[in-house]
Amino acid sequence: ERKNSKGLNMNIISESEPFFAALEKYAQTQWQAGPLVNGKTLAGDLVDVVSPFDTTKLVGKVAFADKQAIETAIASAEGAFGRWTRTPVETRANALQKLADLLEENREELIALCTREAGKSIQDGIDEVREAVDFCRYYAVQAKKMMGKPELLPGPTGELNELFLQGRGIFVCISPWNFPLAIFLGQVSAALAAGNTVIAKPAEQTCVVGYRAVQLAHEAGIPTDVLQFLPGTGAVVGSALTADERIGGVCFTGSTGTAKLINRTLANRDGAIIPLIAETGGQNAMVVDSTSQPEQVVNDVVSSSFTSAGQRCSALRVLFLQEDIADRVLDVMKGAMEQLTIGNPSSVKTDVGPVIDATAKANLNAHIDHIKQVGKLINQLELPAGTENGHFVAPTAVEIDSIKVLEKEHFGPILHVIRYKAADLAKVIDEINSTGFGLTLGIHSRNEGHALSLADKVNVGNVYINRNQIGAVVGVQPFGGQGLSGTGPKAGGPHYLTRFVTEKTRTNNI
Ligand code: NAP
Repeated sequence: ERKNSKGLNMNIISESEPFFAALEKYAQTQWQAGPLVNGKTLAGDLVDVVSPFDTTKLVGKVAFADKQAIETAIASAEGAFGRWTRTPVETRANALQKLADLLEENREELIALCTREAGKSIQDGIDEVREAVDFCRYYAVQAKKMMGKPELLPGPTGELNELFLQGRGIFVCISPWNFPLAIFLGQVSAALAAGNTVIAKPAEQTCVVGYRAVQLAHEAGIPTDVLQFLPGTGAVVGSALTADERIGGVCFTGSTGTAKLINRTLANRDGAIIPLIAETGGQNAMVVDSTSQPEQVVNDVVSSSFTSAGQRCSALRVLFLQEDIADRVLDVMKGAMEQLTIGNPSSVKTDVGPVIDATAKANLNAHIDHIKQVGKLINQLELPAGTENGHFVAPTAVEIDSIKVLEKEHFGPILHVIRYKAADLAKVIDEINSTGFGLTLGIHSRNEGHALSLADKVNVGNVYINRNQIGAVVGVQPFGGQGLSGTGPKAGGPHYLTRFVTEKTRTNNI
């Protein structure tokens, strides 16, 4: 009934030539975005949107939502809820299928925005659109399966017992900048499919991508009062939305700290007790034993650590190498790091683009300075000419003694390496579990029993054996963490929509 989007294979010339020609059309485009309330773009003070890879390059301008916009959006979404939740699930699903088609039709513009506004590489942009398409189609199908008919339950003769699933009300969807289209639309499409109205707040750094996505959703048939878009900061827009008594749920992806803040806001509000779905950060490890293949390990380590400049929640942060194989792996890894091309993400040759902004760059560089003192530098790449105007951080690998020296997630291209002795594997497992995070785990081993035992004992949401640990695919690797890494249920998995609905049992003796 559903297939994942095939994306685009850049190696097939007949596909890539028209793609690059279409992409070129958006190389200089200046976009303008603002709050989309009841389908109208509201005016306001315009803030410049600049490219993370060159802050002298303007992408466009955005107006942030003010108090009046927030109030109107909430009141309208509240008013639209009864109508939307009673709209047949097939109609809601059809609109999401249409949105998926429109995303594919507008792929080049969306990819250009991902590279220019968020600093994503072209391959990341292609994957981003593909994932957004997959989310829309997946949740459309899931909603029809779950909500198409009430579940019939047993009861005495003459009595009809039925279990219905319904939307919960207004879902506030708050997303991060690192997947400005895929996570943004993943949250929104799930909430809409389940019969909720939605107020979407994008990350302040990536409002334009979110704005275009919402315009396409309206074009696809999602009513304008059902889906409202409020760009702005978390401190102003995010906190006003989550503190409001009228909302029915929050779907959040971002840092663990912000998730806890939102949790406290929800707990202190008057009104109903509502769900918070939070997908948060990680301190992701990979454990490599001496039976593994160094060349394959290095490929997977480098892609897991430095793809998207390390700005993936799933990215590898701490590599545990069994000491018998460590020198060999690190030797090959140093060479593989040297092959990475750092630069303008709009160039197809670029592997590592910029980090998102000046604050991220300063924090990551401060961590690199600190960790080089605490540990031993393995390799740090030179930043090439042409990166001076951007937020670039040099991909760096450092050997350390214990995961405990990393007090938090460092969201960028920094890999930490720890050697371990075979006899100390239980200690490695304890170290990883002691962080409290539980998002991804990579394992490299040719001993299946060993790999499966590790997979079982480390508390994480997603385990990858003998491959890289990034790039979960919708419906194939449902994604999400445990503990400090999130509440679940997993995005792109069969249980995700269950958190977006409320249940009603009807016992009928007529
Ligand atoms: P963030 O700072 O927590 O921000 C996430 C979103 O929350 C943004 O839209 C932000 O708005 C908003 N926000 C901030 N303060 C708020 C408040 N008081 N009330 C309501 N909303 C508020 O995270 P980020 O730096 O954008 O994203 C990186 C983090 O996301 C990393 O920790 C990464 O691991 C995590 N992540 C997790 C997953 C996953 O699936 N587990 C996926 C992707 C990313 P502003 O833009 O104004 O800050």
